[in-house]
Amino acid sequence: MTYAVAGLKTGDKIGKATVVIDIIKKGNPEIRPCTSMKPQYVTIHNTGNRGKGANAKAHNNLIHSLAGKPVRETSHVSWHVAIDEEYIYIHIPFNETAWHCGDGAKGSGNSKSIGLEICMHSDQKSYDQAEENAIALTVHLMRYYNLSAKNVRPHQDWSSKYCPELILRRDGTFAKYRARANAAHQIGVSGKKNSVEKGDANIMQFSSSATKSAVRDELVQFVGKGLIDKSWVDKFDRGEMTNGDYDGLKVIVNQRLATAK
Ligand SMILES: [Zn+2]
Repeated sequence: MTYAVAGLKTGDKIGKATVVIDIIKKGNPEIRPCTSMKPQYVTIHNTGNRGKGANAKAHNNLIHSLAGKPVRETSHVSWHVAIDEEYIYIHIPFNETAWHCGDGAKGSGNSKSIGLEICMHSDQKSYDQAEENAIALTVHLMRYYNLSAKNVRPHQDWSSKYCPELILRRDGTFAKYRARANAAHQIGVSGKKNSVEKGDANIMQFSSSATKSAVRDELVQFVGKGLIDKSWVDKFDRGEMTNGDYDGLKVIVNQRLATAK
């Protein structure tokens, strides 16, 4: 049986990233406390790790290594997910707590939130794509756990650590990330089915012609408002548009609408 977390399985696509479920072993409570959790928040982090090669796979290796060590060699540091431009590694089930917020065992960050770490290594191909993948996963989790945008939080909210540092430094506050996630979430709620698809089957698919024409109408409207290029409608008509393209377009459209205000 394939292990699923929040309806996701290894090989699924979120944004442009491939999901890998690789759960760490139990035994070290400073890494995997095995305390049950009903997720009420999503907490966004940047790893703070600029080292070469410090991508999602490297963080997966790191947390597996930590989980295998005795408590005297570790401290309370863990997280649920590591995200880069290509991969989303899930290391701890989302119905268990982790130590990622610095607010103690009883703090809402550690005890009620899913911790997403966005990679920021110096030799990264595209930080922006890593962040888009994080937004796509945030939207998936908002849908899956029925969370509102106000429950998407920066690490900074829980313990005033300056994290996610790249997002805070670029945007000044966390509000834009939350708004981008919320905008994508709203469009998704209003008609599009869940964008998780298997591997290469990431081309948009529709179970009814009504939903297909609704999405096409939306794209035509975006073109009409000058928000996206007409070539996207052509691509849609050729049956070449992927879920990642569509999610990306929504983010672009919402950014343009936001800056136009
Ligand atoms: Zn953090």
